[in-house]
Amino acid sequence: MAYTNAPGTDWYWKRCKATGGKANFWGRSSARFGDIDFKAADLDGFGENWPVDYAEIAPWFSKAERYMGVASTVQNRPSNPDGEYLPPMPWRCIDYIIQKAGEKIGVPYLPDRCAQLTIAHNGHPACHYCGNCSRGCEVGAFFSPTWFTIPEAELTKNLTLLTNALVRGVIVDENGMAKGVAYVDRATKKEVEVYAKVVVLAASCVETAHIMLNSKSRHWPTGIANSSGQLGRNLCEHLYGNPGYGYLPRLLGQPATPDNIADSTVAWTPRWQNLKNPREEKFIRGYSLYIGGGCGEFPWYYGQIEGFGKNFKREIKRYYPTPIGALIQAPTLPSPTNYIDIDPEKKDIFGIPQLRFHFQWGQNELLMWEHSKQVMIDLFKAMGAEMWGADGEPNRPGTSLHETGVCRFGNDPKRYVTNKGAQTHDVPNLYICDASIFPSCTDKTTTMPIVAFTMRTCDHMLENFKKGVHKRA
Ligand code: SF4
Repeated sequence: MAYTNAPGTDWYWKRCKATGGKANFWGRSSARFGDIDFKAADLDGFGENWPVDYAEIAPWFSKAERYMGVASTVQNRPSNPDGEYLPPMPWRCIDYIIQKAGEKIGVPYLPDRCAQLTIAHNGHPACHYCGNCSRGCEVGAFFSPTWFTIPEAELTKNLTLLTNALVRGVIVDENGMAKGVAYVDRATKKEVEVYAKVVVLAASCVETAHIMLNSKSRHWPTGIANSSGQLGRNLCEHLYGNPGYGYLPRLLGQPATPDNIADSTVAWTPRWQNLKNPREEKFIRGYSLYIGGGCGEFPWYYGQIEGFGKNFKREIKRYYPTPIGALIQAPTLPSPTNYIDIDPEKKDIFGIPQLRFHFQWGQNELLMWEHSKQVMIDLFKAMGAEMWGADGEPNRPGTSLHETGVCRFGNDPKRYVTNKGAQTHDVPNLYICDASIFPSCTDKTTTMPIVAFTMRTCDHMLENFKKGVHKRA
């Protein structure tokens, strides 16, 4: 294992060391954050506001949506500002059944904001609904760096793409400014240095902080740009898990339909809790759900069916269109006990000190988890569905791949790692372009906002080039 867990921590750190990284097979849900997220501390008194508001960032969300291609509808939801969308994906029979049941119990079920091309867009082909998204798209019909940003950058002839390059740390000049990075070539195991006027870290949240914590020098004894001591702190994550699952008896024995056409992101249940008052429920803030079902669920339900041989196969087929499950997406709150640091003893095979996780679920997200189980019980009842279970445990922390917070941005250099332009306060020519700058987690996913904030940071960086401010004050 290339990382360690402190006693009592069970973090599962999945990475993709390939060109394009995890965005080769991300879930594509692309909702905008709103002031309900940016100003959550004002609303419920917990934690910190973001240093931006919705009006400031909305044009960047539009720019990101127009670039990536996001399919959805205008929904006028208080928790989810609407954006600029391609036509939504057609719904399946099962979506209408879930929506109708949701209406009965006051739980919304709406087209997801999905970065999957329902029509050809910006030179990329429309999705042909093969349902293979989680393994990467062979035609580039959803946004990924491999199909979008990298080929465009190659066309400029200004890109040199280095693969098998494992960054060990940021190197600094005599003033403590970023001078470049040192990386290990995995093929030769040799260390190489590359130099730059500006260094941008976009290594996927915790890996970015890992690189920075490992970038120690006489200027930065606890890691580069860490005079605030906040580097690695405030680790947040989505609690994931299936809060209830079962089947729809009315679909037993019905013909198979291609329900996995879009890999189950056709619809979602945006946050509906605590919208009018900060604490209408026992917890603060709120969660979203991805409820899904039908033939695309095969084969997880095999364990629910008894028998063997021919009869077992017949039963599997009879149940094929019926299963229903869900995934909760519940944000954790920042906590001083959830953080990452460098393991004082363990190194990887290249001699790079390993990252160590310290993380526990908090009471707020566990209350959301219990709440979601009751929602699924109520929803199943409203659907006329049979429940197999609503008694599971959350997935291991880290499973969502939506970690945030370890280089949080804010205006005060004593309390935040970067300014609101994602430029580190301490090292003006070091920028961060991933979710590590987000000071808290929301009920929405992070990829589209990362693209939006990255576009904004690039703009900020170009302005700074013009002004010549990439120097230490
Ligand atoms: S369903 Fe198939 S074609 Fe469509 S985005 Fe997913 S992998 Fe690509």
